[in-house]
Amino acid sequence: MTSNCLFCKIINKEIPAEFIYENENSLVFKDINPVAPTHLLVIPKKHFSSLKDLDSISSSQIIQCIQELTSKLGITDFRSVFNTGAKAGQSVFHVHAHVIAGRELDWPPG
Ligand code: AMP
Repeated sequence: MTSNCLFCKIINKEIPAEFIYENENSLVFKDINPVAPTHLLVIPKKHFSSLKDLDSISSSQIIQCIQELTSKLGITDFRSVFNTGAKAGQSVFHVHAHVIAGRELDWPPG
């Protein structure tokens, strides 16, 4: 828990969120400002600021959670994005994977 972290507050239920899935290490909730019909955020319960700080176990746990989540929801086509650093669009510094689906997704992203 990092006291000023928005996503740590969501983990601790100090701030509400629409929870979709949870396992031992990770939590999934709806993005408050969705960019597609399905836009979920997958976060580790342990605080890491960004992808750069993740250890290998936590990295694979996030990927595993994405696999469980998409399998459970029957999502076959999706994009997983880790914005890393402010210039790359990261606005919340608790590492998270965006899982975006439900429409055609352009490439390259903006
Ligand atoms: P990023 O900009 O990659 O750091 O992604 C942060 C995401 O968190 C954005 O897509 C926001 O819409 C989302 N977000 C911010 N506050 C909340 C919240 N209280 N509940 C759910 N999602 C949020």
